[in-house]
Amino acid sequence: MLRSTSLLSRMAATDQKKNIVIIGGGIIGSTTAYFLSHHEKFDKEVHNITLLEATKIAGGASGKAGGLLALWAYPSCIVPLSYRLHKELADKHGGAERWGYRAVHCGQLDARGRAPSNSKSTSNSNKNSVSLQKRSEKAIGLLRAAGVPKDLDWFAAESISSYDEMGDLSTTAQVHPYQFTTSMASLAEEQGVEIIFGSATSINQKDGAVNSVTYNSKETGESKQIEADTVILTAGPWTRTIWPTAPISALRAHSVTIRPSRPVSAYALFTSIEIPKPVSRRSKTATPEIYARPNNEVYACGEGDTLIPLPSSTDLVQVDQSRCQDIIEQVGSISDELRDGEVTARQACYLPNVSLGGGPMIGETGGKGLLIGAGHTCWGIQNAPGTGKVLSEMVWEGKVKSANLSSLDPRKFM
Ligand SMILES: Cc1cc2nc3c(=O)[nH]c(=O)nc-3n(C[C@H](O)[C@H](O)[C@H](O)COP(=O)(O)OP(=O)(O)OC[C@H]3O[C@@H](n4cnc5c(N)ncnc54)[C@H](O)[C@@H]3O)c2cc1C
Repeated sequence: MLRSTSLLSRMAATDQKKNIVIIGGGIIGSTTAYFLSHHEKFDKEVHNITLLEATKIAGGASGKAGGLLALWAYPSCIVPLSYRLHKELADKHGGAERWGYRAVHCGQLDARGRAPSNSKSTSNSNKNSVSLQKRSEKAIGLLRAAGVPKDLDWFAAESISSYDEMGDLSTTAQVHPYQFTTSMASLAEEQGVEIIFGSATSINQKDGAVNSVTYNSKETGESKQIEADTVILTAGPWTRTIWPTAPISALRAHSVTIRPSRPVSAYALFTSIEIPKPVSRRSKTATPEIYARPNNEVYACGEGDTLIPLPSSTDLVQVDQSRCQDIIEQVGSISDELRDGEVTARQACYLPNVSLGGGPMIGETGGKGLLIGAGHTCWGIQNAPGTGKVLSEMVWEGKVKSANLSSLDPRKFM
């Protein structure tokens, strides 16, 4: 009896068998694969979900971003849902250990950078005396006068002019974006998602509905096709190369990671640093974002540039070493711990922006079976779980239940 009931329900499900292809294995594609495959309606014996990634999972901005999550991020229609889902995912899958999920303090730090000759330590004894000086009464007094919290003690007291809190442990958190994205892809794979490495060249339609995706296999270079009744385009800044009417533009940004000379407290900082002439190559004020991470790593990123157009894939992104060096010198000019630390990565990636402003675009397009999740600007890490969740609801339930995302409807942008 039981067997025939389950056979009947499987036969009914087979009638509605879905072939879903997600294009792009950044954080948006990987979390979408996660939520689609963890939805109660997904049965891997019946449905197919394929995640098609051109180079490597999290090879673009999703592996090189800062990883800040904030209840005060934007747009407000998706932020609370996504912030909550980050916490739930971390609780469910051991995110604290697996992808460095934790609550952090967040603030705006205004400072005057020291010239390299003043800030550079020349000997061990000099290093020690700087460190001791930071804990001196005078240094502590200077930090208090600028409003700096007691445990934010890894900046040179004489450099800081002011500190303003932007978020606390109840409103701000962080993840390691590369670890989070690759974990989402692995958890989706464990649930039955097939990950294929190849570059999508076209989304094919018949009678106004998608029916397949053509791609070049990464391994063999051969052109292949996957049958699809549902295609979810999550190719970040590359979205337009596959669907030219999608108004997505790309902005390059550089970042570095540093192992500080001693462990530092959990702060994510927006800064404005007046740069003394010898350090500055480009501008008198620098605004690097500086995020302490749990594994004794500090991430810092600089402003964007439009000098080099988006290359054809993530592994062809050009890194301008001088821009990375600027960030290293800027953060070193206000912190001995960062100045004396070891630089562990110098990297660049492209941010996906919606050309007309606003965004991201999440949902159905004019074409039957074609959905988009793209243009997440500087809050894609924060807003990825919310995006994946609502896209999975659209696919499996035909409507969004978890949030009202009508303002992000792609049809309003295209
Ligand atoms: C310097 C910097 C710092 C940032 N810091 C933060 C932060 O602290 N918090 C936050 O919330 N956000 C942050 N962001 C924003 C965030 O990184 C992005 O919004 C997010 O990573 C976008 O993810 P995505 O999956 O849309 O795009 P991507 O990460 O670019 O992924 C797109 C994927 O699509 C693949 N692809 C492209 N073309 C094809 C094709 N034809 N076929 C198959 N696959 C294809 C690519 O290889 C790539 O893997 C930051 C961004 C930058 C640049």
